[in-house]
Amino acid sequence: MTVNRRTPGKRLRSFLRDWSLPRQMRGESHKGAAARSSASEQLRPRLEEADKVGTSICPYCAVGCAQLFYAKEGQLIHVEGDPRSPINQGTLCPKGAATFSLISNPDRLTKVKYRRPHGTEWEEVPLDWAMDRIAHLTKKTRDETFVETLPDGTQVNHTLSVASLGGATLDNEENYLIKKVFSGGLGMVWIENQARV
Ligand code: SF4
Repeated sequence: MTVNRRTPGKRLRSFLRDWSLPRQMRGESHKGAAARSSASEQLRPRLEEADKVGTSICPYCAVGCAQLFYAKEGQLIHVEGDPRSPINQGTLCPKGAATFSLISNPDRLTKVKYRRPHGTEWEEVPLDWAMDRIAHLTKKTRDETFVETLPDGTQVNHTLSVASLGGATLDNEENYLIKKVFSGGLGMVWIENQARV
């Protein structure tokens, strides 16, 4: 077995030749040659292989930061902030910066999971079936609990038995429709949203 032992003299020469501090003291720019090494010479820009760039808006909150989506051969390879946006100017907060993982995580659920009453296991069900069931139960509960007037005669036309909690990914138009349908259509009172505005 070969053991590479460097003498103190060799180590000092290596330090003076390669380390950034002595190189900067010799007048080399801290951004140019002084920052290079044999390892950095091998590095390539991570977006160099992208053959397509698309634009989008971060799905996480109401700030609405603009994003650039980089793809290679139809596969997403990176997401970063769009420097042209006056809102985020190329930056993203930690949540927005994790958008790539949101899309590409192999553990992401893509099928509806349903646990029937008294069931102990999750079942996969079709999305249409799940939507119909949610609509049916919402309407049934609303009809069973709808109150037109209070005991003192005040007209309220509401139900206090169904609530809605929206996520930050809902946009303005979706929130408008939710308020219209749930409040005006069904008489729901408890309508909230967790958006950071
Ligand atoms: S979650 Fe972060 S990156 Fe996304 S829109 Fe909000 S502030 Fe911007």
